[in-house]
Amino acid sequence: MITKKEALELLKSDISFFKKISEFSEILAQREVSYSKNVFIPLTNACRNRCGYCYFRSDSPKIMSREEVLRTVMLGKKFNCKEALFTFGEKPETNEKIKKTLKTFGYDSIVDYLYDLCEESLKIGLLPHTNAGVIEFSELKMLREVNASMGLMLENASTRLCKNGMPHEKSPGKNPKVRIRFIRWAGRLKIPFTTGLLIGIGENYEEILGSLLVIKRLHEKYGHIQEVIIQNFKPKKGTPMQDHREPSMFKMIKVVAVARLLLNTNIQVPPNLNRYWQMFIAYGANDLGGISPVTKDYINPESPWPEINELKVLAREMNIKLKERLPIYPEFIEKGWFSEKVGSVVEKLRW
Ligand code: SF4
Repeated sequence: MITKKEALELLKSDISFFKKISEFSEILAQREVSYSKNVFIPLTNACRNRCGYCYFRSDSPKIMSREEVLRTVMLGKKFNCKEALFTFGEKPETNEKIKKTLKTFGYDSIVDYLYDLCEESLKIGLLPHTNAGVIEFSELKMLREVNASMGLMLENASTRLCKNGMPHEKSPGKNPKVRIRFIRWAGRLKIPFTTGLLIGIGENYEEILGSLLVIKRLHEKYGHIQEVIIQNFKPKKGTPMQDHREPSMFKMIKVVAVARLLLNTNIQVPPNLNRYWQMFIAYGANDLGGISPVTKDYINPESPWPEINELKVLAREMNIKLKERLPIYPEFIEKGWFSEKVGSVVEKLRW
C-alpha cells in the first residue's frame, strides 16, 4: 500500500504528517473496534532476562499454585470472561526456587505445568492465550493443543538494543534473531499469533520500520499474525529506565498509522496505557486487546484497565462499534486454526 521509502518519510515527518496522511484517511479511520474479556494470570515472575524497563520480574520470585490459578479462572467465568491470559517470565526454571517448587507441584518443567492448567481452563470454559517468552519448538507444538492463540512481542528487530547500555543488554531472550525464529515456528505450526513493538525504548525510526517489515514478511509467508500490538513504553520506579521519557502521542500515532498502512492484520493499542485511545482508532488501530473486569495488568500495575462501560461510551461518541471477540480472531476460526480440545470451547463461546 505504501513503499518502504514512503513509510520512513511518514515516520520521520513533522507536523506535515497530518497533511501527508490525509489521503489515507478512509483506510485509517476504523468503524469497529474489538476487545477480549479476560483474566490475567501471572503464573510466575521468575525470568532469565533482565530488561531495563521491567517491573514484573523478581529476584525473589513466586509461582501461582494450581488452586490460585483455578480460582482466578473460575472468577473469570463468573464475570463472563472468555480468555485466560497466561503470562510469565522466560525460562523460569533457571531460578532454583521455582524449579524446586515446580517439583513439589509434581512437574519438571513450567510448560508441563502450564499445559495442565490450560486444560483445566478449557474445562471451565475459558480459552487460554499464552505468552511464555521463548520456548522450544516441541513445547510450542505441545501448547498449541490447549491454546486458542499465543504471543511473543518482537519488541524491536534491532540488535543494537541488546548492546551495552541498551535495554536488552542483559536479556538473551530478547535477541531479535531468537524471537524472529520463534515467530516463524508459530507460523509453521499454524498458531494464531500476537506480536508487536515496544515503542520508546531507545529505538530510531529506521529500526521501527525494520521491525514492522520483519512482521510483514513473516505474515506474508505464514498468514498467522492475528494482531500487532503497538505498545508505548511506560517508565517504572525502581527500574534502570525509570527516568527515561515515554514516547509522545505524536510518535505513537505515526507508528500506528504506518503499521496500518503496511500490515494486513489487526492493529492493537492498549487502552490502559493510552487514556486517549480514541485518537488511535482514527489512525488505524482496530483492537484494544484484553480487558479484565477481574484482574489487573501485572506488567503495568499502575495503569488500570478502563471499565467496559466507559469504552462503550467513548465508542458511541465516535459512532463506531465496540465488539467483543475471542482470543482467536474470527478469521482464524473460519480457517479452522485450532485443535480439537480448543475447538469444542470455541464452538460454545462464539456468537
Ligand atoms: S522478558 Fe519480560 S519478564 Fe523478563 S525481564 Fe524482560 S520484560 Fe521482564
